[in-house]
Amino acid sequence: MTRVAFIGLGAIGAPMARHLAKPPFELAVWNRTPAKASAFAAEGGPVRAAASPRDAAAKAEIVITCLPTSADVETLLDGSDGLLAGLERGAVLADCTSGDPAGSRRIAARVAERGVLFVDAPVSGGVSGALKGQLTVMVGGDARALERARPALEAFAAKIVHCGAVGTGDALKAVNNALLAIHIWSCAEGLAALAKLGVPASVALDVINASSGRSNSSQNLFPERVVSRAFPRTFRLALLDKDVGIAAGVAREGRIPAPLLALTSELFRAAHNALGEEADHVEAVRLLEEWAHVEIR
Ligand code: NDP
Repeated sequence: MTRVAFIGLGAIGAPMARHLAKPPFELAVWNRTPAKASAFAAEGGPVRAAASPRDAAAKAEIVITCLPTSADVETLLDGSDGLLAGLERGAVLADCTSGDPAGSRRIAARVAERGVLFVDAPVSGGVSGALKGQLTVMVGGDARALERARPALEAFAAKIVHCGAVGTGDALKAVNNALLAIHIWSCAEGLAALAKLGVPASVALDVINASSGRSNSSQNLFPERVVSRAFPRTFRLALLDKDVGIAAGVAREGRIPAPLLALTSELFRAAHNALGEEADHVEAVRLLEEWAHVEIR
């Protein structure tokens, strides 16, 4: 049995952890709201709800974190019940948070002082990919650390890609999500303009999805979530706002001229401020609809 700890049973963390709640794994889970960890452990399997991050990490060979931000993971390291106090020498910490490169580098340095390996290992594929165990994991860190973490990552991944040094997984994830945000916003602007001319969104999408303007947003997100007005909550707008901000920051630090990333970051910050913490990422479209006085349906 491989002893694994999983910290952060959120919208994507919980379905990821479920793939580790069976042999050959022995799983300890910890969540800030303890009821979620107890309910998870009550589902059965070789799982225990840990009393603290320290307790979860104790004796674990692989520790996985999946929290909103790198700053949340850094905070979790500290204190007598914190993660650092529990991490075993020789263990690996795989942070599946969509984090920021500088934060990951700081975490890597702090755990290295305790003889612990680190990879940033953000995921893509959404909640549906997590449920199916078919996520893509983009990994930053040294190859030895990745090999140590691989057995647990494979439990929920269809694809594991080594990107480079610590922080590169985060950077790639942020760029991917910035592209998602650009596609959502640009699709909304185009469909709103067509709606003003009396072209229904379903007609516009029928053409676009058979043509070169198509994207995952036009093919899946708009038909299933916007035109239907279903707007299911699977990935919080607050988290996409954070990701686009990270991508814009990565470009800025690399002195890459990136006006589109900067503008998209501003738009998603405005949407996040207007729609609140619980809104789904696709609901950003609602802000554009308000500005345009038109509904995309
Ligand atoms: P959620 O907001 O659904 O869950 C966040 C989790 O982190 C909860 O378990 C929450 O605990 C915990 N948490 C929040 N703040 C803290 C804190 N300060 N200290 C300790 N625990 C904390 O987020 P997701 O599960 O959706 O996302 C997690 C990460 O995965 C994010 O970085 C996100 O960008 C990324 N991601 C999400 C995807 C998705 O489709 N949802 C897709 C790909 C990546 P509590 O239960 O107490 O609130």
